Amino acid sequence: MCEFCHKHGEGEKWYLQAQLYSEDLLSDLNRRKFIGEFFLHPERFAERGKLEGKLEGLKRLPSFVRAVVTPFLVNRQKKVHYGQVVPIEDVERIFDFVNSVVRLPCICRQATVGTEQRYCYGVTMVPTEQSQFVQTLREINASYLTGPDTKGLEVLSKEEAVTSIRELEKKGICHTVWTFITPFIGGVCNCDRSDCIAMRATVTMGFPVMFRAEYVATINAELCNGCRQCMRLCQFGAMGYSIARENVVIDPRRCYGCGICRASCTKNAIVLKDRTSVPLAAGVW
Ligand code: SF4
Ligand code: SF4
Repeated sequence: MCEFCHKHGEGEKWYLQAQLYSEDLLSDLNRRKFIGEFFLHPERFAERGKLEGKLEGLKRLPSFVRAVVTPFLVNRQKKVHYGQVVPIEDVERIFDFVNSVVRLPCICRQATVGTEQRYCYGVTMVPTEQSQFVQTLREINASYLTGPDTKGLEVLSKEEAVTSIRELEKKGICHTVWTFITPFIGGVCNCDRSDCIAMRATVTMGFPVMFRAEYVATINAELCNGCRQCMRLCQFGAMGYSIARENVVIDPRRCYGCGICRASCTKNAIVLKDRTSVPLAAGVW
């Protein structure tokens, strides 16, 4: 269980606790203001040069200062906008109990690629037209939108959303769930290291803004034929090839439990296990 599960999920997976998606949480005016600001001024949250410059600055600090400052900044981030990697099964579970799903542009990719790309899905517990989350998004002047649908939001059925996310999975894109002022969960995003600022900050810059998944991947050596197709999809450098064993091996200390590697395995040789059941991964979030 990650820290959020203990704090906000009553010992269950926090992002599957329906009450956390309650509109009550969105009736908090500060939260609504935050969401409005987030989408109205994406540059404040995701301007690539600015954020990377700040993180580079952090890396240049003497190590003892960094050791103090980084946890402080990460804790502050956890209270506002923090994520967790989730496998496709848990994305489907989230879509099973929410009542509306809208697809919206990815702020990270707006900053890194410079174009509108729709990889993010806002979720709420009430139908779209009654959702304060959706109304909040509609009320703002989302002037960063450049694509054909300038209304900003595409209302999707759950089936359409899952189908499109499954297509992203085949390309090796990893799913994450995000808070908009913790513990309110507002969205499911689809991240990769080349375009996603959050992923880069977490994986390569030493400034985590998301937890690993509640799972870790393991290989069934009897089924694995050593084709190495799965290695192409792992964005976390958790997979290696063992010449001696003639199959792929996974380092549980590096595995984020996204489950994306499974999308390329025709032998069904990769299984996700509960993170807490794998001793080397149990305490690594
Ligand atoms: S894709 Fe499957 S069979 Fe191929 S190396 Fe990976 S785990 Fe083994
Ligand atoms: S080995 Fe772990 S981190 Fe890498 S793709 Fe598989 S589940 Fe994700």
